[in-house]
Amino acid sequence: AKNDGKGNYHFFEASLDEEARRRRQLDLDLRRAVRDGAFELYFQPLYSLREERLKGFEALIRWHHPERGMISPVEFIPVAEETGLIIPIGEWVIREACRQAVSWPDGISVAVNISPKQFSSPVLSSMIVQALASSGLPPERLELEITESIFIANVQRTLGTLHGLRSLGVRISLDDFGTGYSSLSYLRSFPFDKLKIDQSFVRDLGQQANANAIIRAITTLADALGIETIAEGVEDAQQAEILRSEGCRQIQGYLMSRPVASSEVLKLIASNFGV
Ligand code: C2E
Ligand code: CA
Ligand code: CA
Ligand code: CA
Repeated sequence: AKNDGKGNYHFFEASLDEEARRRRQLDLDLRRAVRDGAFELYFQPLYSLREERLKGFEALIRWHHPERGMISPVEFIPVAEETGLIIPIGEWVIREACRQAVSWPDGISVAVNISPKQFSSPVLSSMIVQALASSGLPPERLELEITESIFIANVQRTLGTLHGLRSLGVRISLDDFGTGYSSLSYLRSFPFDKLKIDQSFVRDLGQQANANAIIRAITTLADALGIETIAEGVEDAQQAEILRSEGCRQIQGYLMSRPVASSEVLKLIASNFGV
């Protein structure tokens, strides 16, 4: 038994070590990437089912790693969040998103993801003011996507920050809606502009009887509160049709388009998906 325990312990220690080493390397590479500007924004259309038109794009960060090629944000955003590098990276995302969106037609907005650590930064609001001013993007064309994990910290302070951001004229969207613990209490305390229904709910549409009812409940609630709804991860026409009939206003997903490089954005706007 002792032998077993020892063996397991050693195995465990080695893998922890390996994981720590990997993170340290990723952190070093990320620092270099920030310095060298190795990031790029991709854009994925947000499409209005009701108006049958493209309303905006979500900016999604991409990292071109010198040896490893493209690295997914799923891998490096959590590390950046842990080390604090998310602050300069997040600032770059906002500035770059504003800079690009200002060249799009009026009425086409840009949504950016704001991580929890970035949200709690005392200079977030002034940085956004600056990014809007230097780009010339009207505030109502910028949307901030935040997740309910920001409420884990001091709720009063979080609400203060949200109201402060709202007063700049930007819109605030609650991302990954339905995946946290008590989304409903947040809706009572802050008037979000939009709910993003998480793709885990969309995936079940047409497969699971309850899935439609959940979408209907969310859209009914959002309508009653005067909040927009968008479903993410929409991959096929059947899902889109169910979402439309259950009252969801907007969709985003591979059905419309994968995230594209900025050179493709104007082409997508011009085509409006052939509608
Ligand atoms: P998210 O905010 O939930 O973004 C949606 C993710 O779903 C994106 O992955 C998008 O490419 C992917 N997606 C879009 N349509 C479909 C679909 O039809 N099917 C499937 N299976 N997936 C779809 P991506 O670009 O890899 O980003 C992953 C996550 O990384 C994002 O999840 C977001 O949490 C984070 N992230 C991305 N860019 C940024 C950023 O600039 N700042 C911060 N803080 N986080 C970011
Ligand atoms: Ca998002
Ligand atoms: Ca999501
Ligand atoms: Ca998310």
